Amino acid sequence: MISRPYNFAAGPSTLPEAVLSRAADEMFNWHGSGMSVMEMTHRGAVYLGLFEKVMADFRRLLTLPSHYKILFMQGGATAQNALIPLNLLGANRKADYVNTGHWSSKSIAEAKQYGDIHVAASAENAAASGLTHPFTFIPNYSGWSIRPDSSYLHICGNETIGGVEFWQWPDMRALGAADVPLVVDMSSHILSREIDITQFAMAYGGMQKNLGIAGVTFVILDEALIKERVKTPLAGCPSVFDYRRVLENDSMFNTPPTYAIYMTGLMLEWIDQQGGVRALESRNKEKASLLYSAIDASRFYQTRVEQSVRSRMNIPFYLPDDRLYEPFLKGAQERGLINLKGHKAVGGLRASLYNAMPIEGVRTLIAWLAEFEKERA
Ligand SMILES: *Cc1c(COP(=O)(O)O)cnc(C)c1O
Repeated sequence: MISRPYNFAAGPSTLPEAVLSRAADEMFNWHGSGMSVMEMTHRGAVYLGLFEKVMADFRRLLTLPSHYKILFMQGGATAQNALIPLNLLGANRKADYVNTGHWSSKSIAEAKQYGDIHVAASAENAAASGLTHPFTFIPNYSGWSIRPDSSYLHICGNETIGGVEFWQWPDMRALGAADVPLVVDMSSHILSREIDITQFAMAYGGMQKNLGIAGVTFVILDEALIKERVKTPLAGCPSVFDYRRVLENDSMFNTPPTYAIYMTGLMLEWIDQQGGVRALESRNKEKASLLYSAIDASRFYQTRVEQSVRSRMNIPFYLPDDRLYEPFLKGAQERGLINLKGHKAVGGLRASLYNAMPIEGVRTLIAWLAEFEKERA
């Protein structure tokens, strides 16, 4: 194996070497079929067998009860920003959203094209919470105002750009919205930790962060939501994006992203080989705490996110002087540490530590942090 850099990209993101080499080994001839997965008809027995195993493995690793359905779709979480209102708004066209950052804001802006959207809580105004930077916290539950007749409440479980993650999920009953289904964007932390999906009516996201490559979107739906709320979609919802149609056709209403689904399958098998989600979670915890500890121990590097909602997956941090970013990133690159530049919306630096990031990558990054600080502080 040639030496690979440690890739801290937020998505698409690094994949385990074992997964890449297996995909390479199977490229020309999948399990003696004589075909590459890329060449298989999605209607054939060979591909259907593969597809069903991916679905079953995903369900098992999520410990999903049978009253939840999984759809594989296309268009990414971004398409879901429109498809969720199109499919779930129902007759009153009311939905509530919580704004915790970049991705929540995008979801809200898109939903506004379809209905009466109410922002139930927002972390945009930091000063009101006694903080300096917007979107570095989760608004206190006591201030959430959810309309009880809303078709759903949408939250982003992990803000990939801001680095804010939910560790305590909203209790809809306690929030006076027991009948409002909770919908969660889990694009950037799905299967990075054990999460009880039954708290949600719907969870969705792209696979390209923790579970594979770009092209496949998972949509997990509670049967109760399907029966009661996945009503006639709003006029104009394309059939291929109508949840009921996708369900009726077992995610094969049209050609699914066959190769991307196969790659997710390899990732799921890799997770099993690592000891399952619990083992990955403890590794992810260790990686993040190593990096946060190094940053916290230094007066040179700074983080902005409130300690209690720090993301384990995406860690934005800052240097004391804007002129230092260029030499920092250049030195990082020379040490095989790539894609550490922060998103343009928040600037600074960002390390994404998804499932596939090895702990050695984090240690190498921390060594570079220490070296750079010594040189420049
Ligand atoms: C990456 C990401 C998205 C957008 O995903 P696409 O696949 O590009 O549509 C949405 N939400 C979150 C939380 C993300 O991390």
